[in-house]
Order: sequence, then C-alpha cells, then structure tokens
Amino acid sequence: MTLTVELIPLNCLRCDLPIPAEVEEVAWICRNCGASMTLTEVGELIPCEIFFAADLSPRQKGKPFWVAEGKVKLMRESYTAIGKSDREAEAFWSRPRLFFVPAYQCELQEMLAVGIHLLTNPPSLVRGPSTDFLPVTHSAADFRPFAEFLVIALEAARKDKVKTVHFELELQPPVLWILP
Ligand SMILES: [Zn+2]
Repeated sequence: MTLTVELIPLNCLRCDLPIPAEVEEVAWICRNCGASMTLTEVGELIPCEIFFAADLSPRQKGKPFWVAEGKVKLMRESYTAIGKSDREAEAFWSRPRLFFVPAYQCELQEMLAVGIHLLTNPPSLVRGPSTDFLPVTHSAADFRPFAEFLVIALEAARKDKVKTVHFELELQPPVLWILP
C-alpha cells in the first residue's frame, strides 16, 4: 500500500515566497514579510488578520482561537415547570456572547472544556504585540458546528432535566486570536 500525501505548494500572497506549511495547518504568518493568511474550505489562500492578546507571554507559545460574537435565540423545555435553569439560560443568552473555538490541535474533550470555560468566562480581548503560536489546524469552516455544539453542551449541563433545546445561532464572521 502506498500512502500519498498531497502537498499543495503555497506561496505568500504578498511577497510570493513559499510558506513552510505543515500538513493540516490552515493559517500562517509569512516569516519573510509578516503577512497573515488562511486557507478556506475549498483550499483557497486568502488574507486573514491575526490578533494577539496583550497578556501573552513571550516565553510561551500562544494558542490560536477562532472568535466570533453570537446571538442565541433559545427555546428550552425541561421536564419541570419553568425553573431556575430556564431562567438562568434566558438571562445568559439575553445578550450576544463571544464564542471561542480552539484552532490548535487538541482532543474534542479539551476543545469542549476550553470552549465552555471561555464562553462563560470570556477574557477581555485587548491587542498586544505578536508572539509565536501553536500551529493553526482548524479552519474557520469548523466554527459554526462547534459553536452550536457548545450551546447544546452548556444547556445540557444546567441542573435540571432538559427535554429539548432548540435554538437559532446568529454568528459574526470568526476572526483568529492568539490567546495565552
Ligand atoms: Zn510574505
């Protein structure tokens, strides 16, 4: 059996030098000119701004996250009459929330734990200087399904017997942030 790994040569959109892209990587900063870019779902290279958090340590690689504001319209039904959890849910989703989806390689369990933590405890996004960061292996195309998964996971974790959760999620286009 022969395994063939197809490597598509990528060249920087600005300076045209080759990007040393590893398999599975989907976003880069050109080491030559500093331009940042990402691959779309259909394999097209497009410019993509990368934001760096102000509290990144220069000694540690930052972690890339796709971040977008989302408005959730929730229709939640539990086995009890309208209870504490329903009111909690209503209060939580009464305003837009920031969704953070890990863009680096990690287990689904960690993605979920980190995603829930940041959804419920969002860090303030203040921009700082650029640092080195972990490879970006999840594209923005993964954002919506994972954000929807987070809504369901969060609602299922509330302390009641939730029967059904229906929701509409209105998302802004995700942007790439490098966080500690
Ligand atoms: Zn370049």
